[in-house]
Amino acid sequence: AVQTPADTDARALETLSRVWGYAAFRDVQADIVRTVVEGQNALVLMPTGGGKSLCYQVPSLLRPGTGIVVSPLIALMKDQVDALRQFGVRAAFLNSSLDLQSVREVEAALLAGELDMLYVAPERLLLPRTLDLLERAPVALFAIDEAHCVSQWGHDFRPEYGQLGVLPRRFPDIPRVALTATADDRTRADILRVLELRGAAQFISSFDRPNIQYRVANKEGPKTQLLDFIHAEHRGDAGIVYCLSRKSVEGTAQWLATQGIDAVPYHAGLSPRERSHAQERFLNDEGVVVVATVAFGMGIDKPNVRFVAHLDLPKSMEGYYQETGRAGRDGLPSTAWMVYGLADVVNVKRMLSQSDAPEDVKRVEAAKLDALLTYCEAATCRRNLLLAYFGEERSEPCGNCDICLNPPRVRDATREAQMALSAAIRTGNRFGAAHLTDVLLGQPTEKVVGMGHHLLPTFGVGKGHDEKMWRGLIRQLVSLGHLSAGEHHGLSATGKSRALLKGETTLMLREDSLLPRERVKKRDR
Ligand code: ADP
Ligand code: ZN
Repeated sequence: AVQTPADTDARALETLSRVWGYAAFRDVQADIVRTVVEGQNALVLMPTGGGKSLCYQVPSLLRPGTGIVVSPLIALMKDQVDALRQFGVRAAFLNSSLDLQSVREVEAALLAGELDMLYVAPERLLLPRTLDLLERAPVALFAIDEAHCVSQWGHDFRPEYGQLGVLPRRFPDIPRVALTATADDRTRADILRVLELRGAAQFISSFDRPNIQYRVANKEGPKTQLLDFIHAEHRGDAGIVYCLSRKSVEGTAQWLATQGIDAVPYHAGLSPRERSHAQERFLNDEGVVVVATVAFGMGIDKPNVRFVAHLDLPKSMEGYYQETGRAGRDGLPSTAWMVYGLADVVNVKRMLSQSDAPEDVKRVEAAKLDALLTYCEAATCRRNLLLAYFGEERSEPCGNCDICLNPPRVRDATREAQMALSAAIRTGNRFGAAHLTDVLLGQPTEKVVGMGHHLLPTFGVGKGHDEKMWRGLIRQLVSLGHLSAGEHHGLSATGKSRALLKGETTLMLREDSLLPRERVKKRDR
């Protein structure tokens, strides 16, 4: 009998409720499932937690043959397969963790048509042996999970993913569905090209999380700022605090505990027992705050996380989005709160430039970091900047970020920027922010006098502003790429700064960091 789209929908819904016990598909899931069941290719762009898995699991059950899932997350494969088996789905996986005997059994089951789904690591899929096997087996579809891995521009490029073009070439008639939670325009273009998905149906969900309020503050005393924030807005709430190092995770968790906050540390250096204990307390008890490195969060599905705080800069916008996205899964008001300062900018930039990664990878990472820094220094709606990064253009400000709620005044800071740049240049492009500030303010410190910098024309030209304003300005110059940090935190003027020095471009900066401390405090209240 001919299957109409309505028939397909009915069968999909029946499978969803019979196997998973869910009453309905979410938003676009039903459209995606219909498309794939009918044998068409698809690209699915959906935020983490959006429900991507069902988009290929249900079609795998509805189409004849086995659904092949390509996934780089070998560590999660066994759990995913075990979970499916609990629902009665005949699932298996092939990766390097299996012994030869188990591989043979899985292969035999596949050929006999006894599997609904098979999860395969990309390097395993690419083996001639596996490709030959798949040619002889009944295959329902290929799902390429974490599809952004095909792109060098994506945050975790995998060379094997780059070779998945073998799928359209050798299996042109089997539908392909590529899924990812992170894809800007370039990544998306790479996915379409490598997997030959031009002309495929594209399902692009909004990345907006309207219930999350985005805020970024100048780092002044991070622990106290965090405590004030929790006391003022999230007393007794569950939250996640991200720090860069294990040491600061430990320190921050301890400090919060002494201040009466139910805080537990979590990082890769703890024993498995300690980690699972922290995780269980977070999931099961009320109002636990986990202080963690980025190791925490993968696969954690707690709906009522009320805040995510960053005490250190994340590595990229993708990282920031994923980490903050763990707040407010239940749709209730939540806060993404971050503090950052000059030292962070200098640190991450230096880590990047000193890494052993190939040049082209470094360049991509630097561009991603710059996007994040632009976000931090934003003078316009933060949500719109975040969404624009993921390819979603909005013109209306959101009304639920710090910029919208408390618009910073911007002003022309070109003259001050020129002063700071010339201080860097005249001192030989090798001193840090503290020294440059001393020179600008005309402080005859031992170091300033020792270097003869009190004789420079720049000495004291910045007396009209205070130290805080100069620190803030220098941070913004580094963030925006006019100054770059070298060895020993020495700052040097970059090529980009030349136009600014010549007055060919102007620099509009947020006034909040240009204001003296007292006035900032008053405005906060
Ligand atoms: P993603 O892969 O996009 O991060 P998942 O596929 O892991 O998301 O789904 C996230 C959570 O949402 C899972 O717990 C899943 O069971 C649940 N979920 C997905 N779709 C539905 C649905 N239609 N009804 C109820 N729960 C769903
Ligand atoms: Zn906004």
